[in-house]
Amino acid sequence: MRDGRSTAAGPAERGRSGPNEAEATAAARRRSFEALSEEIHRCTLCPLSRSRTHAVVYRGSLEPRVVFVGEAPGAEEDRQGVPFVGRSGRILDRAVGALGPALGAYGVLNVLKCRPPANRFDPRAARTCRPYLARQLELLRPQLLVPLGAKALAALDPGSPPILAAAGTVRQGAFGRTFPLIHPAAALRSRRLRERWERDVAALGVWLSGSPLETL
Ligand code: URA
Repeated sequence: MRDGRSTAAGPAERGRSGPNEAEATAAARRRSFEALSEEIHRCTLCPLSRSRTHAVVYRGSLEPRVVFVGEAPGAEEDRQGVPFVGRSGRILDRAVGALGPALGAYGVLNVLKCRPPANRFDPRAARTCRPYLARQLELLRPQLLVPLGAKALAALDPGSPPILAAAGTVRQGAFGRTFPLIHPAAALRSRRLRERWERDVAALGVWLSGSPLETL
């Protein structure tokens, strides 16, 4: 079965299943995620597919506690086909290191799966990509989503206040619990934003340390 939506167990099923059944369900979910990833790699639904080198799908655990959600791949991500491997990725990776074991298993993906020309976020492409984002999150089922920057926040929580008001606090978004952060690239723009990034990453660490492990 290549449709991920039909294989993910709902909370009631999860509560009832024994260890073998739970492992079989998790394995089916992983297979569905891999099939979905192939589908995204082949996607030609919008013009960005013609200018990309690679579709950029996901990196990280297939059973993540936390999923970081960026806006769109940049040049290096397009070249390698992996999210957050350029300059912003190095800042994100440093934050991940600072969070330490409190973070647990995590993954990284983007709202847009293909690099937009001149790195200008493309809202039409975001609407086309949205079912992919929804299916990815449904199969990964993280406890917490961390949108990185205003565009990712708008995709996950359209009713949210602006990013600088929402960053560093927990909110209920369209796909579950979110803890927005400013985009890591913004932390390079000024000392004030770097301090804001560091403060909010520390607040995320406090939240993760105090929250029992559970899924959505
Ligand atoms: N910025 C993003 O939002 N995503 C990436 O993958 C890289 C940079």
